[in-house]
Amino acid sequence: MKRVVKSDEEWRAQLTPEQYRVTRQADTESPFTGEYYESKEDGVYQCVCCGNDLFSSETKFDSGTGWPSFWAPVAEENVIYRPDYKLFAPRTEVLCAVCDAHLGHMFPDGPPPTHKRFCINSVSLKLVKRE
Ligand code: FE
Repeated sequence: MKRVVKSDEEWRAQLTPEQYRVTRQADTESPFTGEYYESKEDGVYQCVCCGNDLFSSETKFDSGTGWPSFWAPVAEENVIYRPDYKLFAPRTEVLCAVCDAHLGHMFPDGPPPTHKRFCINSVSLKLVKRE
C-alpha cells in the first residue's frame, strides 16, 4: 500500500476522539472495554486510520489481558516496530507501516509458533469479516 500521510487536523476530522487519542497520540484503551478483545469472528483486522491489513483472526488468541492479542501480523512489512521507553521496562511499540498509527505493543511471551504477543488496542482496528 502507498504511504498515507495526513495532517493532525485531517486525522482529527476523520477519527473519533478515542481513535485519535490512541492511534495518533499513542494512548492505551482501558482493558476489557474494547470491541474486539473477546471477538472470535473470522476475518482480517485492518488499520482504522488507513485500511492497511494488520492482523488475521487466525493468529488471534485469548491472552487474558483484555486487549485483542495476536501472535503475528498479516505480513511483517505491514507493521513497523519502535522502541518505547515510556515505562521503566523498555517495550516494543507496534505501528501501522502505511500511516504510522500507534497500534499497541509486542512482547516476547506469546504462544507458538512465533512466541510473540501483539497486544493491540481494539480502537485502532476495524474487523472486515470473511464471508
Ligand atoms: Fe494505518
